Amino acid sequence: MFISFRHAQSNVARIAITDGMDKRAVLSLREAGHEVIEQHFSEDDLLKGALANFDAVVVRSATKMRKEIIQASPSLSFIGRGGVGVDNIDIEAATNSGVTVCNTPRASTHSVVELTIGHLLASCRHISRGDRSLREGKWEKKILKGTELSGKNLGFIGFGRIAQGVAAVAKTLGMECHAYDPYLPEDIARQFDCNLHKEVDSVFSLCTHITIHCNLTDETHHLVDSRRLALMPGVGNDGVICGNHIVNCARGGIVDEEAVLAALESNQLASAALDVFEIEPPSDNPLLQHPNFHGTPHIGAATAEAQARIGSEMVILLTDHFAGLRPHSALN
Ligand code: NAD
Repeated sequence: MFISFRHAQSNVARIAITDGMDKRAVLSLREAGHEVIEQHFSEDDLLKGALANFDAVVVRSATKMRKEIIQASPSLSFIGRGGVGVDNIDIEAATNSGVTVCNTPRASTHSVVELTIGHLLASCRHISRGDRSLREGKWEKKILKGTELSGKNLGFIGFGRIAQGVAAVAKTLGMECHAYDPYLPEDIARQFDCNLHKEVDSVFSLCTHITIHCNLTDETHHLVDSRRLALMPGVGNDGVICGNHIVNCARGGIVDEEAVLAALESNQLASAALDVFEIEPPSDNPLLQHPNFHGTPHIGAATAEAQARIGSEMVILLTDHFAGLRPHSALN
């Protein structure tokens, strides 16, 4: 019979993986003696106590561990988030219920850096639009004249791990980096040769290319709005009329999608690229119909390498937790 870790000091546990995890990580947990169930539960099932007999749950972004769900799971002592953002977990409720919350903050950094650079390049060289029109039998060689990233100012909203990786690549492409991050020590921005601004508006006023890398909070919700989009200069540092470009590979909701659509329609924005949306999947989002929009379905961390790193880090976190140690990325 399985004995729940929370009630007995055993170091084997019953673990639910609700949004998928790397197969090798699952195998390694089973080999260590843990009972691992891989199953996605509906919100209704979670509220009815689908996790009631589990000691740990590992989620990605799909499972929302809100207060009522945590309270309906009395034997839970660990919530693991495979990835960075913990906006789908009520950390205060977890703390009040004695549940440790951990994420894997560095495992997907490199993958999101590469996707962001991909979107930046796709934006100014019309890669996505060119592909679409080619499939429609068109040969829009003249219409799809692009501009270089080189010689342009790149603005960062949030200058943490992913932004710093993007800045390193952007510098080698010849871009000048500017950032707004009120929580970042100035010397870190200096290490990346990035100009740290005290006001978010000054980044918008200076930069033709803006990429979002902050967390979604009350402070950053709709931080990218019509007023700020209207500040963007449209002319690069090198004097080239390159238009304005927005990329968001952080979280849906930081960018006001209605404002972005209006800016695309008025040509204040030459392009917008989103990996994340306010509502996912964005089935009837009018942005999807705009020729100068291109998107990806929240695939920032969806690489073989990132998923393997997330899995192996999660095994370490769970092993430490059930051995009575404080996991290295515990958030509470
Ligand atoms: P990080 O914690 O290293 O960086 C976030 C930065 O945002 C921090 O430096 C913080 O000071 C800054 N910040 C906080 N509030 C701010 C505000 N009001 N204005 C400006 N900056 C602010 O995180 P990271 O690992 O670089 O991840 C960045 C974002 O990318 C997160 O939102 C994360 O959820 C998201 N992400 C998305 C994917 C994906 O699949 N698309 C994958 C991983 C991470």
